[in-house]
Amino acid sequence: MIEGTMPAGAAEPCRVLMIEDAVAEAALIHKMLRRDETRAFEVVHEVKLAPGLKRLESEHFDLVLLDLNLPDMSGPSGCQRIHRISPLIPIVVFTNQDSEELALQAVREGAQDYLIKREIDAKSLNRAIRYAIERQRTEARLRESEERYALAVAGANDGIWDWDRKAGRVHYSPRWREIMGVATGEPIENRFEEWLNRIHPKDRGAFESALDDILHGNNDHLEHEHRIRVANGQTQWVLVRGLAVRDRDGKVLRMAGSISDVSRRKNAEAQLLHDAMHDALTKLPNRALFMDHLDMSLRRFQRDQAKLFATLFFDLDRFKYVNDSLGHAVGDQLLVQIAERLKNCLRPGDTLARLGGDEFAILLNDIVGPTDAIYVAERVQEQLARAFQIDHHSVYTSASVGIAVSSASYRRPEDILRDADLAMYRAKAEGHAKYAVFDTHMHQRALAQHRLETDLRRALEVGEFELHYQPIVSMDSGRVNGFEALLRWIHPTRGIVYPDNFIRVAEETGLIVPIGWWVLGEACRRISDWRRLFPLDPPLSVSVNVSGRLFLTEDLPKRLSALLDQWQLKPDSLKLEITESVVMDHGDLALSALSALKALGIQLHIDDFGTGYSSLSYLQRFRYDTLKIDRSFVTSMSEKVDSSAIVEAIVTLGNTLGMRVIAEGVETTEQVSRLRAMRCPEAQGFWFSRPLAEQDVAGYLSADVRPVRE
Ligand code: C2E
Ligand code: CA
Ligand code: CA
Repeated sequence: MIEGTMPAGAAEPCRVLMIEDAVAEAALIHKMLRRDETRAFEVVHEVKLAPGLKRLESEHFDLVLLDLNLPDMSGPSGCQRIHRISPLIPIVVFTNQDSEELALQAVREGAQDYLIKREIDAKSLNRAIRYAIERQRTEARLRESEERYALAVAGANDGIWDWDRKAGRVHYSPRWREIMGVATGEPIENRFEEWLNRIHPKDRGAFESALDDILHGNNDHLEHEHRIRVANGQTQWVLVRGLAVRDRDGKVLRMAGSISDVSRRKNAEAQLLHDAMHDALTKLPNRALFMDHLDMSLRRFQRDQAKLFATLFFDLDRFKYVNDSLGHAVGDQLLVQIAERLKNCLRPGDTLARLGGDEFAILLNDIVGPTDAIYVAERVQEQLARAFQIDHHSVYTSASVGIAVSSASYRRPEDILRDADLAMYRAKAEGHAKYAVFDTHMHQRALAQHRLETDLRRALEVGEFELHYQPIVSMDSGRVNGFEALLRWIHPTRGIVYPDNFIRVAEETGLIVPIGWWVLGEACRRISDWRRLFPLDPPLSVSVNVSGRLFLTEDLPKRLSALLDQWQLKPDSLKLEITESVVMDHGDLALSALSALKALGIQLHIDDFGTGYSSLSYLQRFRYDTLKIDRSFVTSMSEKVDSSAIVEAIVTLGNTLGMRVIAEGVETTEQVSRLRAMRCPEAQGFWFSRPLAEQDVAGYLSADVRPVRE
């Protein structure tokens, strides 16, 4: 039975399914709908539920009007059965006056509204229908938006919280529980404390004050990162975002937002920070972190001068030797093991750091005085004195330690480290495994060194250097075989400055390299003149002192051969003097430099022989050309501590191994005759001649050579 009422021009009519067995009622309602001027209705009427449901299955309706008392159904269950077929359809139920309770129940079961029979009038019917449809639409929209929201939230992997402040209740989403580490099934209360209590005690205060900011109206957006404690003592980082909803007075009624698990990001950040502050090899704090700690100690000391601290700076003696001879892997292992041992020398508040290479530093806090630092320095040295076992090698090492103690004059942490470093150099100068405490003396010396460095640079630029030449004489004939070139600095105010006063600084600053090349160039220029003027047999040669730094530069052989070419010199014109320790300290590197020079035909003199620690095996391996007996042995030949035996031993050694031997520093006739008796082939010293200024050499040679020619 279908009847339509449709005023002209209206949109789609509203299709209503009316299930009502009382025919009179049905007619009445139908009439009311037909008269409705606001809207067109198309009403389909059934007297029983079953055919009504059947229609619902196949037709579209906008609304169901349902009598709760039908021949095939009575009670509210009809609503459910309708919704089972058409879940979203709005339902308005009719009921008798005496069963309003039933109608309410129907509403709970899904009906949108109810009307009481006999009280129905056109207005209330119209209102109920409109309302039901509207309400259903709103619900649908809400449901849709809720679903969309839920999907978005699930996709974003965030937990949701919603705090109804007035009611004092919080809704926590399942993902919130998951992030917070709440076990499934574990009951939690919907109170805010549930959250607060899970926050790491160290972060709780900050979170509460961020919340307070919002509650006091300073801010509407909450954004905060904090740690929460999850199961078995672990922590997790979360990022919380939220928004406050206020009443007209600005009071926060509600706050809601999200929570996300940011542990991975936080851990990565922490790792990055850790890596930036630590040494990858030993895992110790690095220079940056050490400086940071030092800065803190300094500030503490500036506030309270009773809080003394000390910095120990140490540098391994001959670490390069380990690296060169046993390989970098062993060197690395040594550093790792050293770090382990040194940790044991320290108290919990102290900092041990690797500053780079073979440099370490210790920061000692709360010391009583310098003696505490000395005590630790001694302990460090004891620890290092025991052999390290690495890959079946027993590796020995030692360290030179510099100590700087807190003082009111320090403004910056860099200054303290600089002074500890200075003291370390001082300790190193005294030999291996020593320590030195910084004093202002050292500071003054450092300042003087700095001035010297600037001066030296200038000297090189404006040409204040000169070479003097000391003859090297053959003991048999008394004839000059060559000269040792000795550097002099003609200082504008200080006069002649001898190398002992500036070579060390030149070496430390690297200036020794350009200076060295100047010396080599100058010596070559001179010897080429003298060889031309005094063609002797064997020809004259010049010996040049070469520092370790220059000796180990990679392009030394190449540049030397270019230099010889430049002055058209045979390689036997030039001899290089290096000290034993250069060779000893740089093992393999020195060996390759030596063989490159040998290949060029340039001879090598080992200077100051006897003062180092050359082993016989080294001598055999390196095969130098000449040993220069150190002056100290020659000098003390005639003294109480008679070194004649040493001198004689070196002479014999040289003769046996096929090396030339030169005795240095010969000053007396007695020394000359003793050396002759020992059959020392060559000598050099004031007795023969002082070092000569360049312009005096030709005269010396003329005088010296003439008798030979006679
Ligand atoms: P050295 O190589 O052992 O040089 C010998 C030093 O002993 C020279 O001192 C020389 O003047 C001095 N001497 C020579 N005969 C006697 C003597 O009979 N008695 C005494 N008491 N001394 C004598 P100088 O010129 O002051 O050089 C000192 C050191 O400076 C040299 O020791 C050498 O190691 C270094 N040196 C000199 N010139 C250069 C250079 O051009 N480059 C580098 N790297 N070092 C240099
Ligand atoms: Ca020398
Ligand atoms: Ca010497």
